[in-house]
Amino acid sequence: MIPFELTILGAGSALPTIHRSATSQFLHYNGQNMLIDCAEGTQIRLQQLKISAMKLDRIFISHLHGDHYFGLIGLINSMHLNSRIKPLKLFGPPELINIIQLMLQASDTSLNFPINFKPLAGFEKQKIDEDEQLQYFSFPVKHRIPAWGFLIKEKPRRNIDPEFIEKYNPNHQQLQAIQQGEDFIDASNARISNAEIIQLSSDQRAYAFCADTAYHEPIVDYIKGVSLLYHEATFMQDLQVLASKTLHSTTVDAANIANKSRAKQLLIGHFSSRYKDLNPLLAEARSIFSNTQIAVDGLKVVI
Ligand SMILES: [Zn+2]
Repeated sequence: MIPFELTILGAGSALPTIHRSATSQFLHYNGQNMLIDCAEGTQIRLQQLKISAMKLDRIFISHLHGDHYFGLIGLINSMHLNSRIKPLKLFGPPELINIIQLMLQASDTSLNFPINFKPLAGFEKQKIDEDEQLQYFSFPVKHRIPAWGFLIKEKPRRNIDPEFIEKYNPNHQQLQAIQQGEDFIDASNARISNAEIIQLSSDQRAYAFCADTAYHEPIVDYIKGVSLLYHEATFMQDLQVLASKTLHSTTVDAANIANKSRAKQLLIGHFSSRYKDLNPLLAEARSIFSNTQIAVDGLKVVI
């Protein structure tokens, strides 16, 4: 199985505590390394978990509340000091690049590496990037300022029909040509089209990140059938009024989104610093969606 792993760098909300940093996550897929949100303290968590920031290819910033990106300029500066030259892809709200440029100008820093910035926009799910293995999407969530969720999904694998292989016994070169989209010519010079030979897999794994957001039903369609859903659950259900007022979710909201989207697994996080014991939050979410886990700093989840 191709490795696809999420590591929680920070599972807390606005106020960081010793045990719970604010939001940041490291996602690894077969050589691709990305960061989702970058709260203050992210560099320290990366070091504690022995993850090199130099390896990061992409950084996604969900919105411009400080607990989701105040660590970014420090991280970028450290990459510069460590002589990074590899370009960095950065996705975030449009204002983000101006904020970074202002801070770099003020310190008279000219980076050794380019930042390829792609502003998030739109009121629909959008494909924001693609490589050989993965597709990257953003979608709007519902918060006090513009905020986006992310879906990172495997591309369908191109499998060659086993019956075709049995019947024609193609050699290595022919198999490669088929994988590259070519038709097959059999011994009697008959053409078999590529579409007849290739079967696209339908079990691609995907990871969805939904924070910060109030309960927002359109998310269900954006992430249908996701393998792992991270959904914020800042409060327990008894603070539902406060959750609505601050445009955050409760454990019950998160579990309902997991249920309706037929997610295979739910991870809840972004807990208010008022909660010292997270077991009641876990129990409340599990009463609706049983395959729920609690995000804690340093937790690794295999997708
Ligand atoms: Zn926020």
